[in-house]
Amino acid sequence: MKALEFIQTENFEANIDCYGYNENTCGCCGKQLKNKKWGVNTIEGPEVVEAHITEEDMAAIGLYPQGIFYLGSDCIKKYPKEYRIKF
Ligand SMILES: [Zn+2]
Repeated sequence: MKALEFIQTENFEANIDCYGYNENTCGCCGKQLKNKKWGVNTIEGPEVVEAHITEEDMAAIGLYPQGIFYLGSDCIKKYPKEYRIKF
């Protein structure tokens, strides 16, 4: 199974300091999301796996799901289409 490194921008920490960290935080840049429209499916690392991979698929090969990380509409573009989950 292919997985990509989870990307965090160099401004992530500064944005968390500024805006706080909560359920509306973009996992990539740390800014607040206006709407939670995009996300990626993660495993420990964290690494990002393709959108269609289920928790059962992960468990079957001994990987631990880390859940969905919500991303803004610019940050989601850092991942290929097959990794993007649209809500
Ligand atoms: Zn972002």
